[in-house]
Amino acid sequence: MSQSVCLRCGALKTGAWVTCPECRHVPADLRDRAKHILVSDAYLSAAVILTTSASIRAGHPPEFPEAQVQTEIREIESLEQEGESSFGFPLVAATAVLLLLAAGAAFVWLD
Ligand SMILES: [Zn+2]
Repeated sequence: MSQSVCLRCGALKTGAWVTCPECRHVPADLRDRAKHILVSDAYLSAAVILTTSASIRAGHPPEFPEAQVQTEIREIESLEQEGESSFGFPLVAATAVLLLLAAGAAFVWLD
């Protein structure tokens, strides 16, 4: 559970990518998701999150350095790729264990 702020209306929400409880905004594209991570407690303290929320409500949304947004976008992309490839991992590990067991069994049998 992480604390974040809706960048559209400034409402506090739990989780950077969840639907905003007030304006129903959902960060959908990579840029929007990256920016919502940058105002979550992954990067900001609870106090700064509150300040950010207040300034968005006052009509002053935070500005993000482009480099920081790009870094976070790459981070999200690599996490999503790991998520996909890790599906294959348990199968590979199980196969390796079975091969080792088979080799061990054959060794004992030959002995
Ligand atoms: Zn909102």
